[in-house]
Amino acid sequence: MYQYTLPELPYRTDALEPHYSAEPLELHHQKHHAAYVKGLNQAQADLAEARKKGQFQYVRQLEKDLAFNLCGHKLHSLLWKSLDPNGGGTPPASVAHRLEQEFGSVDAFREHFTSAAMGIQGSGWTVLTREPESGTLLIEQIYDHQDNSGAGTAPLLALDMWEHAFYLQYRNEKAKWVKAFWDVVNWRHLEEAIGTEHERRSAVA
Ligand code: FE
Repeated sequence: MYQYTLPELPYRTDALEPHYSAEPLELHHQKHHAAYVKGLNQAQADLAEARKKGQFQYVRQLEKDLAFNLCGHKLHSLLWKSLDPNGGGTPPASVAHRLEQEFGSVDAFREHFTSAAMGIQGSGWTVLTREPESGTLLIEQIYDHQDNSGAGTAPLLALDMWEHAFYLQYRNEKAKWVKAFWDVVNWRHLEEAIGTEHERRSAVA
């Protein structure tokens, strides 16, 4: 059975300071993200065991554990790539152009994404995704790690709005956490993600 592993951070834990301090970042990666990886492997093993025994009385809980931990792992892996010590500022021209096409302007995209992040009730994420049928970009509010998410949309850029992401550094001041995100947002990653999607679409066409 495939064993998921915790990916390395693409930078040192203090590389995003002062926007994201080393301690909360390390805890977030080493404890929270690691727990989703562990929970994902466990859910797969538990489901395999249930199949072997033909005992499915806990299948509802196990499927929920699978979805929660799988999406938790995927979104945290994307979160690390969505941040960059040399990020922030204005997006490169190709990204700006695409965001203008999709959302009217870069500012409108930023305002929509920020409002979606600030509007999360409880624990969740704001994620920029690409919907494969239309090829359009969407801003999704995802609850927990897996609820309220479009089936099959590809996540391109993710912001974690769980309190575990920011509380140690920013307490209840969510807006400061969202500002920190924009200060280190990895436009280069988004440029690559959009580019890859574009190439894939061209290859299919
Ligand atoms: Fe998190």
